[in-house]
Formats: sequence, C-alpha cells, structure tokens
Amino acid sequence: MATGTKDFYKILGVSDKASQDEIKSAYRTLAKKYHPDVKPGDSTAADRFKGIGEAYVVLSDPVKRKQYDQMRRIPNLGFGRGRSGARGSAGDGGGGFSFEDLEGFGGLGDIFSSIFDRKPKSAGPEPSRGPAKGRSIEYMVEISFLTAVKGGKISIDVPITEECATCGGSGASPGTGTKQCTECKGVGAISFGQGGFTVNRPCPACLGRGKTPESPCKSCRGNGSVRQNRRFKITVSKAVESGGRVRLSGKGERGSQGGKPGDLIITFKVKPHDFFKRDGLNIHVTISVNLVQATLGSKMAVKTVYGKKVHLRIPPGTQGGTKLRIRGHGIQKGERVGDQIVEVDVAIPEELTDEQREAMEEFASSSGLRH
Ligand SMILES: [Zn+2]
Ligand SMILES: [Zn+2]
Repeated sequence: MATGTKDFYKILGVSDKASQDEIKSAYRTLAKKYHPDVKPGDSTAADRFKGIGEAYVVLSDPVKRKQYDQMRRIPNLGFGRGRSGARGSAGDGGGGFSFEDLEGFGGLGDIFSSIFDRKPKSAGPEPSRGPAKGRSIEYMVEISFLTAVKGGKISIDVPITEECATCGGSGASPGTGTKQCTECKGVGAISFGQGGFTVNRPCPACLGRGKTPESPCKSCRGNGSVRQNRRFKITVSKAVESGGRVRLSGKGERGSQGGKPGDLIITFKVKPHDFFKRDGLNIHVTISVNLVQATLGSKMAVKTVYGKKVHLRIPPGTQGGTKLRIRGHGIQKGERVGDQIVEVDVAIPEELTDEQREAMEEFASSSGLRH
C-alpha cells in the first residue's frame, strides 16, 4: 500500500538506534553527495537532498526524534515495522490515536505535511470494529454517617453516557448514510495555535468522527451517544468507610456491537456527623458537663450510633478533657466491635449572680484558693 510515510532512518542510512554523532555524520556524507552544487540539474538528486535535510532536522533534535519514533511505532502509518499487529485498515483512525495527535513540531508543518499522506479518511462505510466491551463507570456517592455505620439499601441515580442503541453510535438515522464532515474535511480533528506547538482537538462539528450523518438519528440527535440517569438500588455494607467501593458487574456503559457492558464502580463518601466522629471502629463524642457535675460527679445519658442511650457515670473530680470509654458501643463489623469514647468538656460559667459569686468566694477561702 502506497503511503507517503518516509522512513528518516532509511533515508540517512542509519539504524533507528543510531547515536546523534552517527546521524550527523551520515547527514554530512549524504548532503555532500547530493548537494545541488555537486549535481546541478539532477532533479532526483535535488529531491534526495531535500529528503536528507528533512530527515536530519527531525532526527538531530532529541525531542522531535522521540515524537517521530512514537509515530513510527504506530501501526497503519505505513512504516515497515509494527504493521503485522495493525488492527483494522489503514486510515480508519478508529483507535484513540492518529498522526494528527503528533503534529506540533514547531515550524515544521511543511515538512511534516509531506511525511504523511494527509488525505482525509475514507468516507466509505466504517470498517467493522467488532464487539467491544463497554467502559466501566466510576461514580461517587455520598452517604450519611449512620448509613455508613449500620449499612442499608440506598437508591442512586447515575448519569451514564453510552453509545446510542438506535444508531449504534454512528449518529445517523437507521438506514441512512453519512457524509464527509465539511468542517474538518473528514479528518476528525481541527488544529489551532500558532508558532511553537499546535494543538489538535476533536472536530466539534462531527465530534471527531470525520463524518456527519445525512439524517441525524432521532434518539441521540446525531450525537451517537445518549446520556441518561439510571437508577440503581445498592446495598451499603455495615461499617463502610469513605473510599470504600462496590462494583456492580455489567452495570456500566453498554458494549458496542454486542460487546459486554462495563461495570459500575461506586465509591462511598461518608458525610461527617455533628455529634459522632469515627476512628476505625471506635466512635468519639464530646459531652459538656457543668462545674458542679464535674466536681461532684454525675450520671449522663449518652447517645450511641445504634440509637441506644447509655448511662455514663461522671466520677467526682472529673477534669476537662478526660476520656471515658463505653465498651462495646462503637461500630460493629463482623465479629469485632469498637468502643464509644466520650470526652468530657467542663463548661465554666461565663457569668455569675452576686449570690453565686459570694458562694464561689466562700468556696475559694474555705479551700485556700487564691483569686
Ligand atoms: Zn442515535
Ligand atoms: Zn468534523
């Protein structure tokens, strides 16, 4: 198959592992040999000379050479190697990669447009891609703190964009054809940017397909894909934490051409709770007691994550910051269960009545406290 792909290594007569010195030396030798001054009027030699120059410009620059090497490894571009593994036919552009992506050799547009046949992709029928598995979708779901602790069933709506079932992704009404996109001339990408590097973007008119439908599919309005919310009931397992995941096999995007659907991967994000904080299977809470309760001791009812109220004894003389442990009232996971740890915060009255102040002073003098 004739393509305009040039093999710069062949042109310079060096291997693709040649060092910069070898490339330079090969270039010098060949340039001298084919220089128009040496062979005036010889158009073949002039062409050779030009080709040698192109090859040298690219191969002598490590960055350009690297990009060129990448291109060279792509099947379908007409380089000798790598073609055996090529899928589809040359120029189908079906993969995620095309030589357009590799454009952007600053100031070398002309050279590069001559490297490859830039002819637009065939506007004929799409090559058959065969069944392809649908993509898996990752989706994050916020769940309440208590649902995460106790587990339960929740219902979620997941927006899923997938190939339109009506038109199979072509965007064309069933039975109608497509025509070459006038915007990108069938290339599927448009490039912009000046000087330095050019950026290529999928063509907005044809969404990168290079073709536009003659009669747009009604289900997807010619997009080839549809986005809709799908509702799923999922089971949140007990004691799940933020970052916990569940995989729903086959609930992702539909496969194309009869391929298997992808999976839906749900990641949980647990909302914080006003009262309960979690540390592994332990639950931390802070309760506030007043001066008297802390000093003389008290009994408090403390809520647990499972909705129970546990009576907690505040011993006399409890200091602010003291942590009391309620065993076995943390989170249950399988056989294990955590504790609830209660930090005591002692509230100091901000204001006192005259009577209270007097009593306080009396307390101070009787206990020898200075103030
Ligand atoms: Zn459609
Ligand atoms: Zn286009």
